[in-house]
Amino acid sequence: MNLHEYQTKQRFAEYGIPVPMGSTATTPDEAAEIARTLGTVVVKAQVLSGGRGKAGGVKLASTPEEAREVANQILGMEIKGLTVHRVLVDPAAHIEKEIYLGIVNDRSAAKPVLIASSEGGVEIEIVAKENPKAIVREHIDPVLGLHHYQTMNVASGINLPREHWNAFSSIALKLWECYLDSDATLAEINPLVITAENQLIALDGKMVIDDNALLRHPEFEALRDTTAEPEAETRAREAGIAYVKLNGQIGCMVNGAGLAMATMDMVKLYGEADGIGPANFLDIGGGAQADRVAAALRIILSDPNVKAVLFNIFGGITRGDEVARGLLTAYNEIKPDVAMVIRLVGTNAEEGMELISNSGIPNLTGASTLTEAARMAVAAAKEGMQ
Ligand code: GDP
Ligand code: MN
Repeated sequence: MNLHEYQTKQRFAEYGIPVPMGSTATTPDEAAEIARTLGTVVVKAQVLSGGRGKAGGVKLASTPEEAREVANQILGMEIKGLTVHRVLVDPAAHIEKEIYLGIVNDRSAAKPVLIASSEGGVEIEIVAKENPKAIVREHIDPVLGLHHYQTMNVASGINLPREHWNAFSSIALKLWECYLDSDATLAEINPLVITAENQLIALDGKMVIDDNALLRHPEFEALRDTTAEPEAETRAREAGIAYVKLNGQIGCMVNGAGLAMATMDMVKLYGEADGIGPANFLDIGGGAQADRVAAALRIILSDPNVKAVLFNIFGGITRGDEVARGLLTAYNEIKPDVAMVIRLVGTNAEEGMELISNSGIPNLTGASTLTEAARMAVAAAKEGMQ
């Protein structure tokens, strides 16, 4: 889950990281009102994407009237396919120097890593490509935590003037605390600036929270912006379904993550020669009830690329008849015209298959093995693509 800049900065502030004390607006009038108390401001699009500055989503305004005007320009703007519904109005900073500071989970090292660069304000991926020497890394032992000597090491590594080492170190340590407490996989300040007044302040903030940890962070649920994610993902989450959209033509509905991956492999194996592959990863989970199956089918069919649907259900806790009932409910609601292939084994599989064959749905066929099911789905998708 991604946090917006304004949400991240609020969180940073709670940990004592210096941030500009602005607030957000959803209308130009509100933006003008905030600017009235702040003097020169910077009006910033709140969308879950970087590169807002380049896209025209970050603008300075020296009067409340000007703030109203630029807010009017930015609200409703599209940045990388995302519509701006909210702006952050911050007191403008006088920037002397922009630095990059971030902590990210380094999966290959199985540790978080502190990353800093003297070239802030630019996306770190670009610096990594064009000027890798400007980046300094310091791995953080998850048990021992981040140490003062490490942050000083980084400060020196990016050639930060000595007078700022303590402030920099303190910000880095607070960022680590915030990262750790939040179960984040990324916490980034870009740019961290040195102001004309010789202060360090976080002008931008970005955080990504590990979805698997959200259970112990009810405070983040309220911060979720569903207008900023694909609708299918929102619906999947609300229905308790694990769903990842892919680019193929065969929608897969499977119970269990391992089985879902095996199913995708089989689709790929038999479809590859014809350029056919899985349209999604979807795990309806254990003990799937009829309504969840229906929700999953609706999500799969909302993808216009889907030319066939493959159900691979291994009944354990999940009962075959429940799945069949869910499928029939969903079918009667949606009346999809794509071909559907179902393989149902395990608990109550016979009852399930009987319900299916009695339904007389012409475009729904049963298969007894995964190989057979995958081949049938590929053949159907091939036909659907013509
Ligand atoms: P991003 O482009 O989405 O990463 O948005 P940022 O918040 O990082 O802003 C982009 C750039 O706008 C920064 O790198 C700064 O150069 C500039 N900027 C942001 N806030 C201020 C500010 O308060 N004063 C000035 N002068 N420039 C700012
Ligand atoms: Mn930035």
